[in-house]
Amino acid sequence: MLATDSDSTRYQINELCVRAQTPFVVGRVFTRGIGGEAFVYRPNVGGCLACLEGLLERATDYRTGIREVDLWSAEERDEKLYGLNPEEVKDSPGLSVDIGFITAFHTRLVLDALGEATPKRPKFLLPIKENYVVWGNRPVAPFNKNFQLQRISLTPQEGCRVCGDQNEDN
Ligand SMILES: [Zn+2]
Repeated sequence: MLATDSDSTRYQINELCVRAQTPFVVGRVFTRGIGGEAFVYRPNVGGCLACLEGLLERATDYRTGIREVDLWSAEERDEKLYGLNPEEVKDSPGLSVDIGFITAFHTRLVLDALGEATPKRPKFLLPIKENYVVWGNRPVAPFNKNFQLQRISLTPQEGCRVCGDQNEDN
């Protein structure tokens, strides 16, 4: 279970886990708790975190709104956040309950990965097909309704700079 809250460490761990063929699950809450995502790396079966980023970059309208707020550098974030007037900050909090939805998806995917690694998967723990879920808490771009869920099955992407070689070996 990965919860480092920084992209550089996420990618470092992605590379290590791809090399070691070890599953990991990463969760991220989008700025101000508008929603979030949970992603699980399943060696050989699904894409890795770099595959996911490549896919999101190609799909320009997908996650556009999130890119604007979530993928700022730390310096940009400080600058922009401190540039907001207090009313704007006060009106758009990330509530603990909003974050809780993402935590639940994150945790559930961890249980799924543990179930998969168990010699005999517990019967009650039915496999989760998708390896990437995006959850919207409220109708703020890129989401258009409350409680919006997208489920995605990400396959290993051809030419991925991290898992590409790994997949050719298999
Ligand atoms: Zn990859």
